[in-house]
Amino acid sequence: MKICFIGLGVMGRPMAKNLLKAGHELHVFDVVPKAIAELVEAGAIAEENNKAVAAASEVVITMLPNSPHVKTAILGANGVLEGKHEGMKIIDMSSIAPLATREVGKACAEAGVPMLESPVSGGEIGAINGTLALMCGGEKALFDELSPILEIMAGSITYCGDLGAGNTTKLVNQHIIAVETAMVAEAFVMGAKAGVKPEVVYNAIKNGYAGSKVLDGKLAMAMDRNFKAGFRLDLHIKDLNNALETGHALGAPMPLASLVMDEMKFMSATGYGSEDSAVVMRYYEQIAGVELTRGM
Ligand code: NAD
Repeated sequence: MKICFIGLGVMGRPMAKNLLKAGHELHVFDVVPKAIAELVEAGAIAEENNKAVAAASEVVITMLPNSPHVKTAILGANGVLEGKHEGMKIIDMSSIAPLATREVGKACAEAGVPMLESPVSGGEIGAINGTLALMCGGEKALFDELSPILEIMAGSITYCGDLGAGNTTKLVNQHIIAVETAMVAEAFVMGAKAGVKPEVVYNAIKNGYAGSKVLDGKLAMAMDRNFKAGFRLDLHIKDLNNALETGHALGAPMPLASLVMDEMKFMSATGYGSEDSAVVMRYYEQIAGVELTRGM
């Protein structure tokens, strides 16, 4: 099948390569030429803009940073919709605001182009291994039709409901990870200030009710003093902002997200935006004057 991939960043590059490996004819575009070169070397066909790449393909996949990028790439000048043709379908795999997904989906439907959303979880490793967790929204028939393509990139696929349900599900995930990371930091820094080693506390509680994947993964980064992303702090700020905007628009209380957002923004403003979002733990460490090292 002729597929195009738009957005060849940390996630998009390996996802696109897996589509190539599965034998599809892949057309690619990114606003950064360097990102395209790597895919061309792997066998993809480069196009000059989002319109051209869409015109050459039956299925258009976008993997972009946030809502404004998706709007520009699909609805903007020389965008995907300008390259529309009979039978073309769009899968937006970016993590964006659910309200923006519905807006873009509506514009696509009005242009006669069906759109599915499929944000992902699982990070760069999941993208490389083709084991991402996909959270899909849109017409069920469209989901069923496009599932064989999604399966190439996925370890698990969940159909969440109408357009917007996939990105809502992703925001729930991102909200929990952000707040839980801060919560782990707050509790462990308190423990460390009281003189108990983080590793001792961790081993004592990890299999109990407080145990979690966030505790395992993010605390290990702090104990190893390795905050290399992983999932960049600035992307997590973007997701938490989308969660806050969604909550506020719908009248859902978001006090914890607001609090953690301030901490994350402080860490980004002080130079940690490209590190893993676990670096928010350093916010607590710096105030308390303690580090959650293994040796402590
Ligand atoms: P990235 O910034 O590395 O890549 C995005 C790419 O989109 C860049 O190469 C950029 O040049 C390109 N781009 C931007 N605007 C464009 C446009 N108008 N037309 C064409 N290309 C354009 O981001 P990423 O880490 O690959 O993340 C992509 C999405 O996946 C984000 O929504 C992110 O939140 C989500 N996500 C990321 C991770 C992760 O671990 N990085 C994990 C899960 C989900």
